[in-house]
Amino acid sequence: MALNSLHLLLTYRCTYACDHCFVWGSSQATLTMTIGQVRAVLEAAVRLGGIGEIYFEGGEPFLAYPLLLAGAREAVGRGLRFGVVTNAYWATSEEDATLWLQPLGALGMADLSLSEDRFHGDLPSPEVRHATAAARRLGLPQGVLRVELGPDCSAGGVRLRGRAALRLAGQVRLQPWQQFTACPYEDLADPGRVHVDGAGYVHLCQGLAMGRIDARPLDELVAAYRPQAHPIVAPLLAGGPAALLREYGLAHEAAYGDACHLCYHAREQLRPRFPEFLGPGQMYGAGLGSDGVRPPSDARSSTTGAESHRRGAEGAEAL
Ligand code: SF4
Repeated sequence: MALNSLHLLLTYRCTYACDHCFVWGSSQATLTMTIGQVRAVLEAAVRLGGIGEIYFEGGEPFLAYPLLLAGAREAVGRGLRFGVVTNAYWATSEEDATLWLQPLGALGMADLSLSEDRFHGDLPSPEVRHATAAARRLGLPQGVLRVELGPDCSAGGVRLRGRAALRLAGQVRLQPWQQFTACPYEDLADPGRVHVDGAGYVHLCQGLAMGRIDARPLDELVAAYRPQAHPIVAPLLAGGPAALLREYGLAHEAAYGDACHLCYHAREQLRPRFPEFLGPGQMYGAGLGSDGVRPPSDARSSTTGAESHRRGAEGAEAL
């Protein structure tokens, strides 16, 4: 397997609850990795060989700042390069952003990826501007991640899985489900990158796992991966989400916004049957109400995207 990049979902907790979020990040999310899990994954990465970079992301990894720093130290100590993906909520001024970034810079952070788009708040983002200025001042490589949603959802980088399937599908052009005959975005036969989370799932795509590291170490799991024997991957490789639907005789709508929308809908139905490969519940919004942000007892029946974003941020302030 050509695995060369490992992404650690340090925590699903986030200051925001963006409409396009694949992983249902919010201030309500609690699942967070332990330093023991991080260390075990990094040790396995070294045994695997070929892993060129470790990314710390979430959720919002700066909400687990001590863990982020310790994980970065553990990675560097094993000769691994690391980067961080963040919404920069912590960059309240350039001077403050410098305080947060300096310790990561001292460890040799190879990349700081900053999320800035209409889903993450006002444009342009003052926080991203402060973080960019501080990173430049410290000589740290940085870049901005932007996505947008047009009528053809494949063009702007939004994928209709996770909260995006709930909140954004109504804003894009729908196509007959039979058209989605391939997975357009992930190399499921020979993945170059996987995500690992605090529940131990090793994700080929968000919520679609090759297995769990609580059953065996990451390097053994990777060595044992057989795409053609995987109950979800095999149909996806044979004929995309449409084949997954047919393989298991699943219920479906007439049309979907993109391949991920259909795939996610199919996988939701298959979760009880394949819990080892389709999880954790966090990746499917388990326990959240119709707003996709808060538990049913708290959630109003409908909110706008801006409302859900603001309420996520408000919740974080209360933490
Ligand atoms: S959701 Fe399904 S179709 Fe979309 S990238 Fe993931 S595996 Fe592929």
